[in-house]
Amino acid sequence: MIKEGTVVTLAYRLTNPAGEELDVATAAEPFAYLHGTGQIVTGLESALEGALVGTKKKVVVSPEDGYGEVEDHLRMNVKRSAFPPGQSLDVGMRFAAEVQPGEHVVFMITEVKGDDIFVDGNHPLAGETLHFDVEVLGIREPTAEELSHGHVHGPGGHHHD
Ligand code: ZN
Repeated sequence: MIKEGTVVTLAYRLTNPAGEELDVATAAEPFAYLHGTGQIVTGLESALEGALVGTKKKVVVSPEDGYGEVEDHLRMNVKRSAFPPGQSLDVGMRFAAEVQPGEHVVFMITEVKGDDIFVDGNHPLAGETLHFDVEVLGIREPTAEELSHGHVHGPGGHHHD
C-alpha cells in the first residue's frame, strides 16, 4: 500500500483539458518517486495515498494542487546589465534567481529585445488543470542509500554516473 516513505513506480499519461498529451511514462519506461516528499504534484500524491499495486486511476488535479496559478509578478523585464558581462542570453535559457531570501525560482527567458530581457518564473504547466491516467506498477521500501539521497535509484529513478 502506498504510504509515506515508500518507493512507488508508476505508468501514467498526463493530458490537458483539450486532451493533448503533456507527458507520459510507460511500463517499459516507468517513473519512480519517494512518496510523501513532494516529488510529484500534491493533487496526484494525495490521490495515490493508500493505493495498491495494480490500482488504475483517473485523477484531475486543479492548478492549485498542481503547478500553481500563473503569477504575473513572476513575469518580468530585466535589463541585460543585470546578467554577467559577456553572458549570451537566448530565448529558452533557464537560470535560477533568489526572489526572496531562501526562495529560489527558475526563470526562463521568453523574449530578448535589445537590452530588455523578458523572463518568466512560472512553471510551464502553471494554470493548467492536469488530467492523469495513472497505474501503480510497484511499491517497495526504499534502500538506506535511497533514503540518505532522498530520491529513488534504478528504473524510473535517479541515475548516478
Ligand atoms: Zn542518489
